[in-house]
Amino acid sequence: MTWLAAKNRLATGERMECWNTNVHIGCSFCAELKETREHLFFDCLYSRQIWEALVGGLMGSVYTWEWTNILNQISLNERTDMSLFIVRHEIVGVVTEVGSKVEKFKVGDKVGVGCLVGSCGSCQSCADDLENYCPKQILTYGFPYYDGTRTYGGYSDHMVAEEHFVLRWPENLPLDSGAPLLCAGITTYSPLRYFGLDKPGVKVGVVGLGGLGHVAVKLAKAFGAEVTVFSTTAAKKQEALEGLKADHFIVSKDAEQMQV
Ligand SMILES: [Zn+2]
Ligand SMILES: [Zn+2]
Repeated sequence: MTWLAAKNRLATGERMECWNTNVHIGCSFCAELKETREHLFFDCLYSRQIWEALVGGLMGSVYTWEWTNILNQISLNERTDMSLFIVRHEIVGVVTEVGSKVEKFKVGDKVGVGCLVGSCGSCQSCADDLENYCPKQILTYGFPYYDGTRTYGGYSDHMVAEEHFVLRWPENLPLDSGAPLLCAGITTYSPLRYFGLDKPGVKVGVVGLGGLGHVAVKLAKAFGAEVTVFSTTAAKKQEALEGLKADHFIVSKDAEQMQV
């Protein structure tokens, strides 16, 4: 995605408008009428808050939200402030130590962690099981932990997480191939459930057969839905139909196929 953003190839409102004049081209976060790359990164006040929360502390005195300055920072050879910054979520592993009040897990258990390792536990968002909106949430990387250290993401050797944010890992699910379920999986599972597309007979369209798309196809098929994949890449047809058992495949660049 960083590459897409750097090359200005993201599907922003501004770029979508060139292909289809009927699409909504405004920013989904604020009232800005035209969503451009510069708006998203980070003229937009909403996305700028997220950017600041994520990297503000890490970048320290060189913190910036201006796109060209960010690119300059990324291309610098010396980045001492960020040299220990390891990203990643979708984390799986084995419990090596548990706190005295931990009840759900013991040493040796296989577990998974999504994007969060902590939250305040007392605000309305936490009470509603929407900890991802908690103003004191602690993400798996780049966030200050309770003891003042920083979370260092899924590539680090060890990670400390509250048991509330730890998932028990099924014995029959390989750690490596199951890991994407912790983000790509839940991101596609959640809307399928929320919009009632989790039953046999419903028709589900999946646009794009990438990291999320292929999981969406597998989940929708497991729910019994009739699945149509829309892709710009004709070469993915075999993977979609034979590998993932989608029912239909449509090349979205082919105007004739899109008529059907
Ligand atoms: Zn905006
Ligand atoms: Zn909270």
